[in-house]
Amino acid sequence: MNTAACQKYSACPICGKRSNRIHSRYLRLLDLPISGHLSRVKLKARKYFCDNAVCPRKVFTERFDYDIRPY
Ligand SMILES: [Zn+2]
Repeated sequence: MNTAACQKYSACPICGKRSNRIHSRYLRLLDLPISGHLSRVKLKARKYFCDNAVCPRKVFTERFDYDIRPY
């Protein structure tokens, strides 16, 4: 089973089709409460093209498996 960090594709949140065509990458900064402290976490996010011609979402951002919730 692959972890999120090494997956080579991501599924479109609209149609569920998997894509491995990366549109772009970007860094995202998040302030996450970890063990009661706010920690700044850098996430490397990727954007993918959706190959489904009838899907309204042409580009989507990959989903993270991190469990992010407020206090
Ligand atoms: Zn799609």
